[in-house]
Amino acid sequence: MTPEALDAADVLAPFRQRFTLPAETIYLDGNSLGALPRDTAARMAEAVRSEWGEGLIRSWNDAGWVDAPGRIGDKIARLIGAGPGEVIACDSTSVNVFKALTGALSLAPERRVILSERGNFPTDVYMMQGIAALGGGQVEARLVEPGALEDAIDQTVAVVLVTQVHYKTGRVRDMAGLTRRAHEAGATIVWDLSHSAGAIPVDLAGAGPDFAVGCGYKYLNGGPGAPAFLYVARRHQNRVMPALSGWFGHADPFAFDDTYRPAEGVGRFLVGTPSVLGLAALEVGVDLFLEADMATVRAKSLSLSGLFIERMAPLCAGHGFRLASPENPAERGSQVSYSHPEGYAIMRALIARGVIGDFRAPDIVRFGFTPLYTSHADVAAAVAVLAEVMETGAWDRPEYRSRAAVT
Ligand SMILES: *Cc1c(COP(=O)(O)O)cnc(C)c1O
Repeated sequence: MTPEALDAADVLAPFRQRFTLPAETIYLDGNSLGALPRDTAARMAEAVRSEWGEGLIRSWNDAGWVDAPGRIGDKIARLIGAGPGEVIACDSTSVNVFKALTGALSLAPERRVILSERGNFPTDVYMMQGIAALGGGQVEARLVEPGALEDAIDQTVAVVLVTQVHYKTGRVRDMAGLTRRAHEAGATIVWDLSHSAGAIPVDLAGAGPDFAVGCGYKYLNGGPGAPAFLYVARRHQNRVMPALSGWFGHADPFAFDDTYRPAEGVGRFLVGTPSVLGLAALEVGVDLFLEADMATVRAKSLSLSGLFIERMAPLCAGHGFRLASPENPAERGSQVSYSHPEGYAIMRALIARGVIGDFRAPDIVRFGFTPLYTSHADVAAAVAVLAEVMETGAWDRPEYRSRAAVT
């Protein structure tokens, strides 16, 4: 089918009108920063002018500010197959990785290894290393090659930290299988869902992991630096004494007690005062997602990425691109990456022509497919622009080679 025919049959097409996208731009980076939902600006203006400006401190109670982390967490739970009361929206993904790992370590005091794979998203690895340093030799941050992860889960491992959809390759790990393997070895497991939530169907209830974390600003369209989320399986919530024992996780924060006493439930994993404005924007993005059916989103995502791979084939044959993502759709998240030695300059040239993807060192160009606002026509047009950049050599200019701070 042609891109036009695929778009004509697309039941998600109406969602595109719910986003504000710049003209003359094909946005293939929603896996890094989601696009702006049309309703976000008005909601933010209301939160600022009315709730903050008029309501002032009364809005903590009257505008639902204090309940926002749990309320939005419950909504995110529906997108990742979790139950109510199992997810809170708060802090950054990095901080939530810290909470999950320290919580997991406290569940297995006789074990000392945090296990992950080399090449995992850096912040996940850095948090492991920070916890190991804090543990003063009691905790080991152990990294193994991706293919060796499963076999490395032995009796010394307290917790496995793994990202479901790899940020570079987009490869999807088997959540149910690896979770089972960890549990058989007496370990717990933390899943990073940063490239999963809103990208692929996730079934936390079915797979039964212990903890999960993920991002609000990627596929969930919560805005730059949006609060992240933390999932703690109900069976663990009241067994874990939070390492980040902040007053918002206290059973009675406004008792101003001298002694920390954690709240019941997932609320104990809150730390400090929630980012109210960030949560207001995040909620709009999450609400929009809840109108879509995840199976339909997944089908369109694979249709978009499949078309992209098909159209890229001549550029692989003639211009040195090498597919770095799984060819098998079942193993692919909602992004497609290629390695190319001149990837950085090529991506800069593409962005200068209004086709926005991103670059990940050392040589990966990455394209994200966001079915709520990307069309098959966009995909075909993006590859056509890339073909033109390669055929004319337009990428080969000094200004495209100089590195910006954020790639
Ligand atoms: C994007 C991403 C993060 C981001 O963490 P922040 O604390 O929001 O900066 C973490 N883990 C993975 C796998 C990611 O892709």
